[in-house]
Amino acid sequence: MSKKFSLAKKIFIAMILGCLVGILFNYLKEKYGLDEFEKFFLDGCVKMIGTAFTNLIKAMVMPLVFVSISLGVASIGNLKKLSRVGLKIFLFYLGTTIIAVSLAIFLTKFIDPATNFHVKNKFSLNQEINDEPQKKVSIANMILESVPTNPIQSFVQENMLQIIFLAILLGVAITLLQEKSDLIKKFLEQSNEINLTIINMIMNFAPIGVFCLITYTFSNFGIGMISSMAKYIFVFYLALIIHTILVYGFMLKIFTGLSVKKFWQKFWPVASVAFSTASSNASLPVSIKASDNMGVSKNISSFALSLGATINMNGTSIMHGITVVFLAHIYNVNLSLSDLIKVVCTSTLASIGTAGVPGVGMLMMAMVLKSINIPAEGLAIVLGIDRILDAGRTVVNVMGDSVCTLIVAFLEKEFDRKKFDS
Ligand code: ASP
Repeated sequence: MSKKFSLAKKIFIAMILGCLVGILFNYLKEKYGLDEFEKFFLDGCVKMIGTAFTNLIKAMVMPLVFVSISLGVASIGNLKKLSRVGLKIFLFYLGTTIIAVSLAIFLTKFIDPATNFHVKNKFSLNQEINDEPQKKVSIANMILESVPTNPIQSFVQENMLQIIFLAILLGVAITLLQEKSDLIKKFLEQSNEINLTIINMIMNFAPIGVFCLITYTFSNFGIGMISSMAKYIFVFYLALIIHTILVYGFMLKIFTGLSVKKFWQKFWPVASVAFSTASSNASLPVSIKASDNMGVSKNISSFALSLGATINMNGTSIMHGITVVFLAHIYNVNLSLSDLIKVVCTSTLASIGTAGVPGVGMLMMAMVLKSINIPAEGLAIVLGIDRILDAGRTVVNVMGDSVCTLIVAFLEKEFDRKKFDS
């Protein structure tokens, strides 16, 4: 690939073009109907290519998570270091999640997006929300759900927490057996190389895939939908930007002193895939590759990023915080300090329980609303624009994983400065 037109640049151009073409198609659809065009071109061609690209990346997620985590754990070499690294990563994830939801609540109280908001129709109960069985999320349930009873089932059901659990077990066993398990370790190393090579091959198609995904999304929404909820979307994206600049920028500077600009340059391809697929899982292969470019050792990145894609969702927590305050205003519910603390706690649990796939964060929102007795039907108001929120929050979700991983690698001296600066 020529230096002048790197993959990251191509993806960026594809995103911008996708927005413009999508908005144009939406306009033409609204004005002239164009049913046949929609069926054959948008649903048939554009959606098909975009979905094929997302499916291909998703297909690599499970082998990548399993192989890279077990290898990462095995490569750390001793159990003491493993538990220290694991604890650090977990604390970073937890801390940033709590900051994210608190910031969102504060900002929404400050710039109230519900002023001038008129609901024309009384909220129709949304099918999608009611049909979704309300999962009870508690710490005990979450721990129990991550312990597999049948490994095959864990893979078939794509249960990420269980797959991570199994991979850690395998890594620990390899560490304990030392040279007796050399063959398996070699096998995992080669499988990892193969996985990364396949991901490189898929990423060459990213500009086309990203273009189709964005075109399809915008052809459905147009600008009309966005403008009617503009203030809410504005506050949401503002909170994402503040969190990115203040929290992540500050953390990077304080803990590592590294250049935030350089981080962004290397993170950009991950952001574009996260934005267009709205899935932390689908972005995982690209974010492992980007961390490698940042000089993070594979031992840390494979383990920390896979865990992050499953449990660390700062963008989702921000959405929870904003939506709670927004809906509380619409429903005239007064939120006391203890309500707000409840929101912080349930949203933290909900974001740990949110799967890294599109749209789940919004459904988990029902649980946060329930904790303070705001009717879950209120979600119908924001559900229509969820794809626009999902794109941004997924970028922040995966960015949080990358930042924490980089910091922990730096603190553990598992970081190559030259590679980061290159
Ligand atoms: N789409 C988000 C992600 O994959 C999860 C969510 O819906 O909030 O990170």
